[in-house]
Amino acid sequence: MDEKIATLKKWVDESDNIVFFGGAGVSTESGIPDFRSVDGLYNQKYDYPPETILSHTFFMRKTSEFYKFYKDKLLLEGAKPNKAHLKLAELEKAGKLKAVITQNIDGLHQDAGSKEVMELHGSVQRNYCMKCHAFYDFAAIKEKVNEAEDMVPKCDKCGGIIKPDVVLYEEGLDGLTMQKSVQYIQNADVLIIGGTSLAVYPAAGLIDYYRGNKLVLINLQPTPRDKYANLCIAGKIGEVFSQI
Ligand code: NAD
Repeated sequence: MDEKIATLKKWVDESDNIVFFGGAGVSTESGIPDFRSVDGLYNQKYDYPPETILSHTFFMRKTSEFYKFYKDKLLLEGAKPNKAHLKLAELEKAGKLKAVITQNIDGLHQDAGSKEVMELHGSVQRNYCMKCHAFYDFAAIKEKVNEAEDMVPKCDKCGGIIKPDVVLYEEGLDGLTMQKSVQYIQNADVLIIGGTSLAVYPAAGLIDYYRGNKLVLINLQPTPRDKYANLCIAGKIGEVFSQI
């Protein structure tokens, strides 16, 4: 076994206070593209960059175009949790992992069985009418997007536009989720960061609250925080986790 992976395994075996902080790279092995990999969404051709499309202003002004992108790239059906999601759920069940803090909106950690999941950027699984706040699940929104001529899902009750419960650019993060995430990170013995470019703030800033000496970073590409990690592993997170 690789020496770095052996160290990770040792730290994980010895700890019952692990916290995981992850991003889109955690779900690429489930077939969901991230933003910043070579084959990620930023390197595919759209009329606007993903950051613009996934902004509050764009949603309000060009709702139909927003949903076109959203349907193609984020309303993905059939994605299954991979080895990373499953390992994290297993560690939580074994009483070793306290929480998963994720920037992802795909719900795959919950599908894998994780219970304590801090969804910093919301979830595609929850959608609300902007007028009367009626709730719609993933299946309902998908059906509506597919059926509407302009792809904009409308509320059955009042005809209002339905908005996914995801944090768009220009929108604030949920205060309680942030507060709980800070607490988990502050108190963590081992903090494992994986599958994130650590480029999206304020989420990426959360890792500054870690006070321990077992900061693990697992990512395919280098990140601005590699130099602060006690253990930096360049690799696919699912493959790494399947060895511990
Ligand atoms: P990012 O796209 O900026 O960075 C992903 C990082 O993961 C890259 O550095 C890449 O090298 C690495 N990576 C890719 N596959 C990997 C793998 N198998 N193992 C290890 N590393 C891997 O993603 P981000 O930092 O999460 O920021 C993007 C924003 O976009 C987030 O806010 C997130 O909410 C959102 N997003 C979410 C999803 C999702 O829910 N699955 C998908 C795309 C984007």
